[in-house]
Amino acid sequence: MSTHSEQMHAPEGMARCPIMPTYGPPPVMFVRGEGSWLFDPDGKKYLDFLSGLAVTSLGHAHPTVALAIAEQARTLLHVSNLYGTEHQAGVARTIDTLIAGEAAPRGQVFFANSGAEANECAIKLARKWGGRGKHVVVSAWRSFHGRTLATLHATGQPEKHEAFQPLPEGFRHASWNDLDDFARALDESVAALLLEPVQGEGGVNPGDPAFFQGLRELCDERGILLMVDEVQTGFGRTGKWFGFQHMGIEPDVVTMAKALGNGMPIGACWAKAEVAAAFQPGDHATTYGGQPLSTAAARAVLQVMQSIDAPALATQRGSSLTKKLEALPGVIGVRGLGLLLGVELDAEVLGGRLARDVAAQCLDAGLVLNGITNTALRLAPALTVSEDEIDVAVGLLAAVLSGGTS
Ligand SMILES: *Cc1c(COP(=O)(O)O)cnc(C)c1O
Repeated sequence: MSTHSEQMHAPEGMARCPIMPTYGPPPVMFVRGEGSWLFDPDGKKYLDFLSGLAVTSLGHAHPTVALAIAEQARTLLHVSNLYGTEHQAGVARTIDTLIAGEAAPRGQVFFANSGAEANECAIKLARKWGGRGKHVVVSAWRSFHGRTLATLHATGQPEKHEAFQPLPEGFRHASWNDLDDFARALDESVAALLLEPVQGEGGVNPGDPAFFQGLRELCDERGILLMVDEVQTGFGRTGKWFGFQHMGIEPDVVTMAKALGNGMPIGACWAKAEVAAAFQPGDHATTYGGQPLSTAAARAVLQVMQSIDAPALATQRGSSLTKKLEALPGVIGVRGLGLLLGVELDAEVLGGRLARDVAAQCLDAGLVLNGITNTALRLAPALTVSEDEIDVAVGLLAAVLSGGTS
């Protein structure tokens, strides 16, 4: 109880809150989840249309995943990566198949604990592969790649950089979906490009297939790695297993995390075997990455996702949700792929509110989503969301939008 009240009711007492002030005071506390629903300590229900942030793609407390975690916890939690464990190879093989399709076996996987760590692995791999003098990673303005110092510099949002200068050397940015600008950014020092297929944190901005195909050609001509950050888009979210599969290209490196564990922390970096060969024993390591508990969860997640054809669900439910959102008064446009959607609102319906104010009112009304720009909301429900739940969510959003600033 005291944790609850400390976190919930201590605005002027922030100094006494035991949590660092990186997130601002939480508006609500959640104590339980089931499928698309979350519950606060008073038993109030919330429809979760954010899924962590595209993490719980199978919904909360999925029974198969919960059972796999519980059984593994009773069996073996952890041993060092100096020794083998049961699930790593199988999960890596499944990831390889989902990425390479008929071309599998094609690549190798390094397991980490988060999206930023998966990207750190990719950046180190690019440097080792490129060799001295060929180490620069080019990413897009408005991109998001994580909060460690290196992935923060890869993140194309200068306002997030300022307080933490100097950032690690070796990063450069070019304009999203602008092939000429990327071509201008390339020289002998560039080892790799790092790009999201759909920019998530940057506003739900889908990549243009022609842009990605042009980048693939540039990379082939100049001997540069094309690395895609699928941390938010991976595992069916966009209607395909990976977002790059909409772009008509084959990447050299793929990073992933969020949905892979359905809430259990796990990240992974896949690379074509000939690229992965740049790493030798001792080049990279992690204490927890790939440990039995998280790989047991990932194994269950991938089995469930394959058995329900998660990408197909994202396509069907995504198109239904998109149509229903587009029909709402005040919605100018819905962008994104599958069940990763940005909803652009017009000035009239906003009525002086920012999208985050609308999101806060939705939360009060029992709907979880977030403001992704000043004028757009982001929705990322579980891929298992039902048509009824979509109707409830759209109804709640409609009521908040028509309710004005109250
Ligand atoms: C969330 C995210 C990350 C960072 O993942 P963490 O697990 O928070 O470190 C990196 N890239 C993208 C595209 C993301 O959405």
